[in-house]
Amino acid sequence: MTDRYAVVGNPVAHSRSPAIHAAFARQTGEDILYSRLLAPLDNFARTVAGFFDAGGKGVNVTLPFKGEAARLATKLSERARRAEAANTLRFDVDGIYGDNTDGPGLVRDLTVNLGAALAGRRVLLIGAGGAASGVVGALLGTGVARLVIANRTRERAEALARRHGAPVAACGLEDLGGEPFDVLINATSAGLAGAALPLPAGAVAPGAFAYDMAYGPLAEPFLAAAGLAGAARLADGLGMLVEQAAESFLVWRGIRPDSAPVLAELRAAR
Ligand code: NAP
Repeated sequence: MTDRYAVVGNPVAHSRSPAIHAAFARQTGEDILYSRLLAPLDNFARTVAGFFDAGGKGVNVTLPFKGEAARLATKLSERARRAEAANTLRFDVDGIYGDNTDGPGLVRDLTVNLGAALAGRRVLLIGAGGAASGVVGALLGTGVARLVIANRTRERAEALARRHGAPVAACGLEDLGGEPFDVLINATSAGLAGAALPLPAGAVAPGAFAYDMAYGPLAEPFLAAAGLAGAARLADGLGMLVEQAAESFLVWRGIRPDSAPVLAELRAAR
């Protein structure tokens, strides 16, 4: 019998996850069907329960529900617990297992696909929502020299930094200025709203790497601003999308698909 999975979000129509998981299923021979599920903003839990009752085996969770997904899970991986956010739910016989694959997805894209060095680098993470929360632990695990989280709402950045201990600092967006960073990662949804992010020139070290977790045109304003401020390498989040999906596939099916050909296919289709 075909096992059913879905990505749950609001909005969700733009999601490329169904195409990615269909490619993984073809590659691995796993018999799965993966669809999109729009959840009303006030009814995430009921939407997930309905999918489960209809025989669903698991879901990916996208904005703005990752925090709610972590609270819905009856068991959490250590990385999801620390993030207080889950992007992957697996419906087990004894409850709902929640994990967060955004961190390994981002780090693999940066270090393997893009060849960016993180160890010993000064890293700025902009944003403190579900996506930013999921990647702090994985970034620390690479041995970065310094990690600063900057967010529009400073208190959220401070709370996220506190959960990860001493090596992480936090500030408001308006506090960014003189300190240069070698790697700058935009984990805000400002691009979705068409808003520009304030990016002071002093924050971009010469030759820095700028990365936007959004992909396609939504990533362009931040990457253009970073390029003007001196960043030498620019990348959007399409690779992270494919890598976090491969990790979710592993959580559900016990097999990690080869992400490289799927990423190449998506880039070529643009
Ligand atoms: P979220 O939980 O809703 O958080 C949104 C974040 O963006 C918050 O930090 C928020 O700041 C900030 N923000 C929103 N509008 C802003 C503006 N106009 N100016 C400055 N900051 C603003 O969303 P999320 O789940 O973290 O997702 C964030 C982005 O990452 C989205 O573009 C999403 O598509 C992308 N993403 C990509 C991948 C991937 O695989 N490539 C994976 C996950 C997420 P406040 O706290 O002040 O509200």
